[in-house]
Amino acid sequence: MTDTPKYVSLDGVIVPWAEGNVHITSSAFKYGCAVFEGLRGYWNAGDQQLYVFRADDHARRLVNAQRFQRFDTLFDATSQTTAMVDLLRALDLREDVQILVHAYVSGGGLPASTGPNGLAIAATPWTTPARLEAGVSTQVSSWRRTPETAAPMRIKTTGNYNNGRIAAVQALADGYDTALLLNERGKVSEGPSMCFAMIRDGRAIFPSVTNDILESITRATLIDLLREDLDVTVEERDVDRSEIFGAEEAFFCGTAWEVTPITSIDRLAIGDGQPGPLTRRLQRHYEAVCRGTVAARDNWRLPIYG
Ligand code: PMP
Repeated sequence: MTDTPKYVSLDGVIVPWAEGNVHITSSAFKYGCAVFEGLRGYWNAGDQQLYVFRADDHARRLVNAQRFQRFDTLFDATSQTTAMVDLLRALDLREDVQILVHAYVSGGGLPASTGPNGLAIAATPWTTPARLEAGVSTQVSSWRRTPETAAPMRIKTTGNYNNGRIAAVQALADGYDTALLLNERGKVSEGPSMCFAMIRDGRAIFPSVTNDILESITRATLIDLLREDLDVTVEERDVDRSEIFGAEEAFFCGTAWEVTPITSIDRLAIGDGQPGPLTRRLQRHYEAVCRGTVAARDNWRLPIYG
């Protein structure tokens, strides 16, 4: 990462970075009345192009999240994407980026207030984290994933994130890289900001979407790539904690986590304790699809320039 980017986008208007503020009395600040998306842009040096991955799917998920929160003003997919493209072009970033899009209650009031609403977008340069190559050690958290009966875990609302945060903080304090949360039924759910998968007897197994997980766009992408491109059988079902220890490989996935190998859980090695071969193949293929270095699934990549 170089310097702080020059601009952010507020309500579709490009403003200097320092002016990207939300008031301390806003419901967004006080009660977490905000929904958001994290997107990635991949710089393709050969094409001299920045590709944003599955922008339409992220925008649609954010529309659903705003509707769920009964916000007065809904920023539709077109207005979100137009504002994002305008910002990226103004910043003229020619490197990998992370983009955060927040829709929120900018007014004050009680927790039930639904407006007025704001749309904030920030894009910052992204450096590939070391965890992608090295993999991560993981702790099964003593915290349970918030159940669907208590909060809408398939909605990306900022208020949901304290659950994963405390699990991650505990894992770091205990000497692990990150956490894996079980749900109230004791089944494997997901990580603090990423989904879980394992390879067992050559099959890819993902906890199903009814396990209090976010309906992850990366997870859906990888299921397609595994089935269609890598000819791997995929199962979506309940996963028991003890089942993981019989897996040959395991990984986390998400927009920011991409495909991150899990090398151990609770200090017990997964496979031989190294990132597994199928995880590596999937990792490479996913990156090539996102970056556009393979001519496949062009409709998933939104070109920003030209
Ligand atoms: N679970 C949680 C709780 C997340 O915050 C994220 C990141 N958005 C994911 C899973 C992965 O979702 P996606 O692939 O859509 O980024």
